[in-house]
Amino acid sequence: METRRISIMGATGSIGTSALDVVRHANRTGAVQFEIEALSAGSDAETLSAQALEFGARIAVIADETKLPELRERLAGSGVEAAAGVTAVSEAAARPVDRVLAAIVGAAGLDSTMAAVRAGNDVAIANKESIVCGGRLILEEAMRRNVRILPVDSEHSAIFQCLGDGRALDKLTITASGGPFRTATRERMRTATPAEAAAHPNWSMGIKNSIDSATLMNKALEFIEAGFLFDVSGEALEVIVHPQSIIHGMAHFTDGSVIAQLGAPDMKTPISYALGWPDRIETTVDRLDLAAMGRLDFEPVDDTRFPAIRLARQAYAEGAQATTILNCANEAAVSAFIAGQCGFLDISWIVEETLDRYFAGNMAEIGCGSVEEIALLDRFSREMARNVLETTQHGTGG
Ligand code: NAD
Ligand code: MG
Repeated sequence: METRRISIMGATGSIGTSALDVVRHANRTGAVQFEIEALSAGSDAETLSAQALEFGARIAVIADETKLPELRERLAGSGVEAAAGVTAVSEAAARPVDRVLAAIVGAAGLDSTMAAVRAGNDVAIANKESIVCGGRLILEEAMRRNVRILPVDSEHSAIFQCLGDGRALDKLTITASGGPFRTATRERMRTATPAEAAAHPNWSMGIKNSIDSATLMNKALEFIEAGFLFDVSGEALEVIVHPQSIIHGMAHFTDGSVIAQLGAPDMKTPISYALGWPDRIETTVDRLDLAAMGRLDFEPVDDTRFPAIRLARQAYAEGAQATTILNCANEAAVSAFIAGQCGFLDISWIVEETLDRYFAGNMAEIGCGSVEEIALLDRFSREMARNVLETTQHGTGG
């Protein structure tokens, strides 16, 4: 039986806990046995310590240093090492393993993703924001170190499964559920609360990813992620709305063939594919019953109600600076929305305004050639987004 050592960054989140479900089931039933080297979390010491104890992790790392005493106390006598701080998270990602699951949310995951790659660890990447900001850096480093980057995002996992050797490719499609406001008017969206925006019809996810799904900014980030991961131009990338979330992604070939990947909307499937590749791991995911479903629907994205995809196309065509600004302005805008400081439509509007300021030449001096430069641009973009929020008429979503 094959044994595989993995580490999970962002273990306590939606992806992290689903990954541990996959591991638990595989270890009970499967041909692959997983051992856990490191688990990390932002600030939830209670869940992190329980996970570390259950799975016999070597080390548990918490980003929030004030939680170290609690973590130590909960792990006392267990033999599981405890550490804290953002540097410790990246050091944990660099411990030699067969695969690191990068499941931290936001650009905060870039450091540890890069650390894993630099250490020569294969990376299962859920943390799309680190690809949107540092895609080229990560992929170039991965190439140099002969490291594999395996997609976890369901759309990208689908494409990875459909692509074959990638020859004679015409274009790639990623699907979007359309989120909770797929059929809503702008008037309705204007007054949407964080709780309404986070209530996703098909997928259960962390709060940030859920809000991003409601604005379609999640799909915008995935558009850019697909561009970087599969090295295709924006013209060769298509987003379509597919409310049932059964087809996740498709590869179109020059002979007219289209290969699609289908499955119930459950992240355990793509997580298991990325952890198990090149093997498939049995999961507990509901099996698909198309006859019972009866139909699958598709529609184009409405760029007027949902400007996010248009912004992603623009940013991706421009380059890594623009995609970093798009991502970081969005992170700032989503935080502001959750904190009740702006309306739902303001999120896309803040991103667009921040990008416009960049296009007008206000931020051109900051590059994207290193993790440090990206961190600087990240801070700058967030400040700019805050500035847009505070100095301009808002509440209308433009
Ligand atoms: P989540 O908020 O549920 O979990 C995030 C995890 O990261 C938690 O363990 C948290 O403790 C940790 N974390 C947060 N901030 C941190 C910081 N500053 N430093 C270190 N750790 C930190 O998020 P999620 O929904 O699991 O999403 C994780 C990533 O996967 C995101 O990039 C998201 O876009 C992507 N993703 C999620 C889904 C999904 O279904 N949830 C699907 C596809 C991709
Ligand atoms: Mg996705």
